[in-house]
Amino acid sequence: MNNQLNSNGTLNSPAIPKGVQIAGETPFYFYDEEMIREQCRKVLSMPNAFGITVRYAMKANSNLSILKIIAECGLSFDASSLNEVKVGRAAGIPIDRILLTTQEVPEGKERESLEGYIREGLKYNVCSLRQLRLIAPFAKANAVPLSVRLHPGTGSGESATRNTGDKYSCFGVHSSDIDEFLQIKNNEGIAIERVHVHIGSGGDPAAWRDNIDKELDLLKRHFSEARIVNFGGGLKVARMPDEEAADIVALGNYAKEAISEYANETGRQLMMEIEPGNFIIANAGYAVTKVIDTKQTGEDGFHFLISDGGMEINARPLLYGARHPFYVVSPTGELLYREGGEGDGEFVIVGRCCESGDSQTLNSDGTICPRIMKGAAVGDYLVTGGTGGYCAAMTPFNYNSHTQAPEVLFLKNGDCRLIRRPQTLEEMLAGEL
Ligand SMILES: *Cc1c(COP(=O)(O)O)cnc(C)c1O
Repeated sequence: MNNQLNSNGTLNSPAIPKGVQIAGETPFYFYDEEMIREQCRKVLSMPNAFGITVRYAMKANSNLSILKIIAECGLSFDASSLNEVKVGRAAGIPIDRILLTTQEVPEGKERESLEGYIREGLKYNVCSLRQLRLIAPFAKANAVPLSVRLHPGTGSGESATRNTGDKYSCFGVHSSDIDEFLQIKNNEGIAIERVHVHIGSGGDPAAWRDNIDKELDLLKRHFSEARIVNFGGGLKVARMPDEEAADIVALGNYAKEAISEYANETGRQLMMEIEPGNFIIANAGYAVTKVIDTKQTGEDGFHFLISDGGMEINARPLLYGARHPFYVVSPTGELLYREGGEGDGEFVIVGRCCESGDSQTLNSDGTICPRIMKGAAVGDYLVTGGTGGYCAAMTPFNYNSHTQAPEVLFLKNGDCRLIRRPQTLEEMLAGEL
């Protein structure tokens, strides 16, 4: 097990009161800059045959300051919407370092904007027959090569809702539509430079490995002109002490061998791409909340810790039954408990929303699942690890009229920097007429 990728012991607890000062209040997100850089270095050094491009999946966390750090580390980017492309531009990312893979089908002004970006160097990953038909005349007229996202028929995710490769999800062009895709492409004389598959998020590393062979086979049979093979993201992250992260050296070596074999057979040297989101950012982020109350529900019930940040800060337990590690930190920054340490009871952690599912300790079937830990007292900080990705970017933050939480960056030199200030109630209401 690779400890660096684990939740164990990376929280710098004395920095928490500093973060509180900068943020002004709890709850807030707290990101460890050095950890982000370390993960970037790690993925960039993944073994490969003829070069590797790593695209950070912006949807995991698109705070401008975070995007800038990741761009500085030399990564390229995967955008999931036209707006994400615009956010990438706002972060100063050169447009030719962005690949757009989206379910959107822009029309009117948005299409003009898409074509404008493609002219400037944006890479466009076609995900449906309709997307291909609409972009074909433009691609032909401008001699722009395209990419294609294929639906492989099987996938793997940390939960059923994060499998993007089986028949229950519709991402990409299904293999049974490839003939029609090829017909349109060949009629228009369009070149496909990149074949892309993303099987899901946080699934079984064995499934990720199996896709390497499957995707190369699809590429060989249908898109032999392609120069780039993109294996998607979804590299498994270990948040809890009992979880194991994907071994990216082993996966890289497997891909290296498969791509070398393909080169021996065909004389074509494919550039490899991967698109990690969570693998870069998940364990670099913490959600800092404060315990505001404790309750219990009788002899056969539970002991509850009520914190000032629940589903509106981290919706992943409610959405997926995701497990995150907990830390208890005293008001002066002393680490009182870390996940996996010795507990003194079973606790259910809930937020302050009027929603019985507003809990951080849920099973994948949505039932309450108490956690053994050391009880925190009112006033202690309850910190949730593994919350760098798909938390700030994906929460229903204005539910119950809570305001969007601030974000703080913890720097290598021990300082903290505010990278999103707290939303005010006036800002929350600003758009209402
Ligand atoms: C979400 C997504 C990713 C990143 O997934 P992670 O699980 O965060 O690594 C990569 N590529 C595509 C196309 C995606 O939709």
